[in-house]
Amino acid sequence: MQINSGLPEDFNPSAYDMIVVGAGYAGAVCARRLAETVGFRVAVLERRNHIAGNAYDYLDEAGVLVHMYGPHIYHTFSERVHTFLSRFTEWTDYQHKVLANVHGTLMPVPFNHKSLLLAFGEERGEELYAKLVETFGKDVKVPILQLREKNDPDLAEIADYVYENVFLHYTMKQWGQTPDEIDPSVTARVPIFVGDDDRYFPQAPYQGMPAEGYTALFENMLDHDCIDVFCDVDARDIFELTDTTVKVCGNVYGGEVIYTGPLDELFDLDLGALPYRTLDMKFETLDMDQFQPVGTVNYTVSEDFTRITEFKNMTGQEVPGKTTIMKEYSHAYEPGSGQTPYYAILDPDNRKLYESYLERVSHITNFHPVGRLAEYRYYDMDAVTASALNLSDEIIACHA
Ligand code: FAD
Ligand code: UDP
Repeated sequence: MQINSGLPEDFNPSAYDMIVVGAGYAGAVCARRLAETVGFRVAVLERRNHIAGNAYDYLDEAGVLVHMYGPHIYHTFSERVHTFLSRFTEWTDYQHKVLANVHGTLMPVPFNHKSLLLAFGEERGEELYAKLVETFGKDVKVPILQLREKNDPDLAEIADYVYENVFLHYTMKQWGQTPDEIDPSVTARVPIFVGDDDRYFPQAPYQGMPAEGYTALFENMLDHDCIDVFCDVDARDIFELTDTTVKVCGNVYGGEVIYTGPLDELFDLDLGALPYRTLDMKFETLDMDQFQPVGTVNYTVSEDFTRITEFKNMTGQEVPGKTTIMKEYSHAYEPGSGQTPYYAILDPDNRKLYESYLERVSHITNFHPVGRLAEYRYYDMDAVTASALNLSDEIIACHA
């Protein structure tokens, strides 16, 4: 497929039935669906110099396939999402495993049966495990905050250990707040697992890595005669919003607009900046075959980074004598600093601010915010894909 850099001098928005801002999952899924179902001519505008949004991967200088914006592991419970994405890639059978480094001992996360034995020793560990099974049943997920509410000395012993050794320090590093202070849905992403499944996404029926990588998946998704992709284009340079219309290159645009960036940026943050956490990612290539036993090791009681990812362990790529690892350092996002807004900070005040921005675009009937940034959500790739599939259903229904 052809990826253009910048817009041609004679760029004519009205030659397109739809303009998509952002070439990540949200934008690419909508572009593909509208192009192939109702024959829309689609222009995708992306301000970075590449497609695939935060899922972008590339070969580094050592020839190792790395994820530029943090480790991305595909997993979903949704058959619809999986069927759709599987049109554009084969999948490896990679099952993501994470270990927590707790004072030098590596324990499975989510904290499970094996972690209990490592933390408490065989005998006490089995006793405590039996109590968990008796209380919650087997092969179930129990969020740490829910476990802490239980009024039982054995369960409290487990909860205190896991809270202190798995969640507290990691969450402080990641969010600058304790697990009790942040939205409960965040720590519930990594519940305790009462069972032996030691995968990071226990029970998810579809998981793996795109066989040729994420960027290749996006190349296939955007490779359609009706889709033109323009990178190095910031939509804000050619967009102007009024109360009821969106102008593109100075003229009211009559087609559909899919917007996948942050909403506050469209208004120069005039109601205040939507808060995010960002990450500094430090990549290192080492002269060895393998650095750590699994894809990701979380440093839950030590270090100032949160986790180390070793990409070859996830992709299965063979690069003898070399491996690339990456450490993530989290801090508050400063708008206008060139940082990337990675994580929306879920909190009622922030949601209210987001809703105020949303209200301002709600009367522009052809303007559709969608995706992790534009919806201000903590979405995984599959959730963004699902949201974009639903939105594209609605638009298709109006134009079929
Ligand atoms: P993005 O991928 O952010 O794409 C939006 C695009 O819009 C960007 O490329 C941006 O440059 C562009 N854009 C914004 N504004 C403008 C503008 N004005 N003009 C032009 N272009 C613009 N999900 C998983 O399922 N599994 C994982 O393991 C996983 N790991 C993650 C790890 C990290 C560190 C992070 C941050 C996220 C992770 N995710 C993971 C989530 C995943 O990255 C997102 O769900 C997904 O990439 C969001 O897609 P999107 O299209 O909504 O947004
Ligand atoms: N978390 C933690 N310790 C861990 C793993 C996760 O405290 O070992 C908490 C932390 O608050 C984190 C959240 O659970 O931000 C969600 O973790 P996840 O791995 O889903 O985060 P992501 O991969 O999206 O950064």
